[in-house]
Formats: sequence, C-alpha cells, structure tokens
Amino acid sequence: MHIQQFKTNVSEQYDVVKFIDIHDITDKHSSVFKLLEDCSDRAFAPDQRVVFFSSHEPSQLLCNHIQRCVSELGIDNGFISIHCPHDIQASLSTAFNKYGGTTSAMIAWQHVDLDDTAPIPDDKIYSFETMCFVPFTSTKIHVNGDVEVCCKHGDCTSSYNNREERFDNYEPFAVGNVNDQTLTEVINNDVYKDLRHQFKQGLRPKGCQNCWNTEDLGGTSMRQMLYPKLKIGADLEYFDFDPDGDEFRARHVHITPSNLCNFKCRMCVGESSSAIALEEMRFAKDAESKQNFKSMIKDLSAIRPAPGKPDIYATVLDPAMPHLKSFHLLGGEPVMMPDLPDMLRYMLASEYHKNIQIGLNTNGSYWSDEIVDLLLQFNLVDVLLSIDDIKDRFEIQRGSPVPWNEVVDIINRWAKLSSDAVNIIFFPTISIQNVLYLDQLFDFFEQNYKGFTVTTAYLESPTHLSIDQMTQTAKDLVYNKYHNSAHPELKSIAMRMAETEAVDGKKFIDEMNKLDLRRKVNFSQAHPEIFAAMSKR
Ligand code: SF4
Repeated sequence: MHIQQFKTNVSEQYDVVKFIDIHDITDKHSSVFKLLEDCSDRAFAPDQRVVFFSSHEPSQLLCNHIQRCVSELGIDNGFISIHCPHDIQASLSTAFNKYGGTTSAMIAWQHVDLDDTAPIPDDKIYSFETMCFVPFTSTKIHVNGDVEVCCKHGDCTSSYNNREERFDNYEPFAVGNVNDQTLTEVINNDVYKDLRHQFKQGLRPKGCQNCWNTEDLGGTSMRQMLYPKLKIGADLEYFDFDPDGDEFRARHVHITPSNLCNFKCRMCVGESSSAIALEEMRFAKDAESKQNFKSMIKDLSAIRPAPGKPDIYATVLDPAMPHLKSFHLLGGEPVMMPDLPDMLRYMLASEYHKNIQIGLNTNGSYWSDEIVDLLLQFNLVDVLLSIDDIKDRFEIQRGSPVPWNEVVDIINRWAKLSSDAVNIIFFPTISIQNVLYLDQLFDFFEQNYKGFTVTTAYLESPTHLSIDQMTQTAKDLVYNKYHNSAHPELKSIAMRMAETEAVDGKKFIDEMNKLDLRRKVNFSQAHPEIFAAMSKR
C-alpha cells in the first residue's frame, strides 16, 4: 500500500495526532523523545492516536525504546499504535513488561503491507539496560582534589559470587585530580572516554560492578535511581554526544569541600569526618597511623586558597559553571565548613547561579543563617537530611554530640523552608544498625513531615554493616517483621533477606563493642533485638 493511501485510511479511522515514520527516530537516541515531547502528560480524546509506521520490522531495542519514551513522557499506551507488515506482538509485549509503566493496555500493533519505507537501523539507540549517563555528565570531587566518576565507580575486581571479598577489595578509583588539571581536562581524559565508549557499545564496564551487582540481586542501582531524577533529560541531552568528537563538560558536580564534621557515624571513616580522625588518632596503635589520622583532624579544605596550591575556583568552578545544572555539597558536614560561604558567594557573583540547582547532604545537627541565605539565592535547592533512625538509636549510630531533640529542632527549621524552589528530602541510609527499626523511622517522617520525599540508600561498605551481611537469626527477625508489611520498601527488604546468604556476625559485634568501649555508650542496650540476633548464627 502506498504511504499516502495508508495515511488516508488510518485518518478515516482515528484522529491522528502524529504520523511518525520509524526511520525518523533512528538518527539519534533523543529523536523519539523530541518528536513526542509535546504529547507529554497530554489528555487524548478516545479516538486520537500517535501512529508509527514502517515497511520494516522494528527490532526489540527499538520497541523498548519507543515504549520507554512513551512511559517516561506519561502518554497512555492506548493512544499509540505501530503499523507494519511484521508481527511484533511478542516484541511489544516484552517492551511492555519491562517499561510499560502503570497502564494496562499495551502499545497496539496493526498489520499493514506498506510500500518500501526507509530502513530502520538501531545502532544510535542505547539500551536502558546497560546505559548510564553519569560518565557523560557527572563527576565527584574528593576533598584531596581526586576526581571520581561517581561514588559507586571503582576498582573492584572480585567476582559477584563473593560479595565480602569484592567490597573489601573495592577502592574508589581516582580518574584524575583537579590540583593537576582542570575539571574539563579530567572529564575528557582517556578513562572517561573509555567508559563512554563502553556504555555506547552496550557493555557493562568493570569499574561499575557495584551497580551491576545491585541490579543482579534484584535491587535498584544508582545508575537506575538517577534516571527518574532527571526524567527524560538524560535521553534528550546526553547520549547523542560523540565520545571522540565532542568536548564533554560537567553538568552535575558532587564535591566534598571539606572533611570537617561533628559526627562519628559508625559507617564513616576519618578521611570523611574530622571527628572520627580525632578518635582514631587517640586510639591508634602505631606512630604511622597516629600521624596519618593527625593529618586529617584539621579541616582538610579542598576549596580554601593556599600558597602553592592550584586555585580550585579556577580549575573547577570557572570552567564548569557556564554548563552546570547541579552542584552538590557532600561532607563532612557542609553547614559547618568555614570556607563554604566564600565559595557560594563566588558562584553567586556569576550569572550562572540562576541555572544551577544547589544541593547539600547535612546530618541535621548544624544550622547557619549565613549559609542558608546564600543557598536560597540559587535557582533550586535540594537539602538531603541524613536521618537514619530516631532518638537514642540516632545518637548512637551517628556518634552525634547533639541530642536528638535538638536535631529535631533543626530538621523543623529546614522543613519550614520547603517550597517549589526548596526540596527538603529525608535521605536515610539503610544498614544492619537501623534495618529492624525502619518502620518507626518511616512513621516519624509520615507523622511529622507528611508529603516530604524520603529517598533511601543501601549501605554497601563497610561490609560488616551491610544488610546483605547478616546472620540467619537476624535475617529471620527482619523477614518476619516486614514480609507482610504494606510499606513496599519494607516488603522488598524482607525479600532481600530471603535472597542473600547468611554470614557470621562476628565482625559486626566486634566493631559495635569496640566503638561502645571508646565512646562509653551501649549499642546493644539501644538496639537489643538486632544486636542479640547478630550475636547468634
Ligand atoms: S553504572 Fe553505576 S558505577 Fe558506573 S558510572 Fe553509572 S552510576 Fe557510576
């Protein structure tokens, strides 16, 4: 059938919003998203349709791509049909099962014998199953200037079957250092380039093993978690870049401006918390480690200008700011960092801050009117409150010198700032310490901060605190508590208990006892059930 005749026939049956030759979505990954962008969240009349057509058979990858785009844009599948001579029901069903979203109807296939249309290659379409936009856009800068691709990318060579060995051998992998090069030079170096090439070829890069392992265990990896955050932004902007031809610019920067912190979280290390470094120095057994921790107790400021040190404003901020979409401050505790106001003022002095979403992770114990006033001048603000538990359990797990009721006062101050321009997000990290008490934490959020976003992270390192490293008794305890829970996350934690193997809890118990002794606190008294369960095989 001639294309024009086909269009006339379909138009007699439906009010066609768009005819799309599938060939026209194959030149770039972003093409289908751009073509359908104006249909996003649109209310269609019952007889309206978006009609794709081709005389060729769309591959599974193309069917997945169309389905994902339709779901991401919030278009009901019932308004989409694909017309071609080949039976693609099975491919559409596979695509629907993976990316169909919440609608019940599938994208419809309609048979038509069309005259020859242009071919439909899929080599510029990237599979969501293996693609990650992070190496195309993002970077993380450590307090010593080391640049990492993200907090999950690293040098992990051990096999998936031996989780403990893998995590113990896992090291964050510095791909460059902003004391030697500008940030733009680092993210255009060979390591970044190679990663981008691997993702474009549909490979699973070895340094991303953390994400693959989480996905293989049925969890949601950081790679997958980040997509919804950017919605279709990732598909629209990032994957069309040519890894060889284009100069990449950082769009999303995470930076640890300093290790200064007042907390001694049991999951953290001296390099990230000056308070832990001080404690480690006091208890260090040999002169070398004492000296090592001593070097960390002073404020290791990445951003403070100093003689003989490259100006990080020039190596990071100046080249990055014109292109930045988000700039996220990690800790330490950013709100207590003395150099932060100067850096924020420097960013605010440029016109670019109007495009930048500024974010920070805070432990909820520290308030600075000066820093808050500066943050509020950016385009958007994300405040992630690291609240893992409540009351005395919070104090013990986090090694907090600030009593829980004072932390609640500060949480309330942040909560009052919540608006269209300020996102206040609770960001608990789930570990063995708090896993059994999460129902109480979620109730605390629900009762006091209804409607606020809660985003969870699962601790993987140190391994002795990971919920994948529990004794059978502890796993049974958690499973029995949550397997009938109406809360989807608690239910999925119960399922995770059933999927991982039990281990000996000795390291966990030894570490809890060691820190109790140092800090003169009693973890087992505040967490009696999980401590007892981790003590038994
Ligand atoms: S796949 Fe995971 S580890 Fe690799 S870059 Fe993406 S988020 Fe980072």
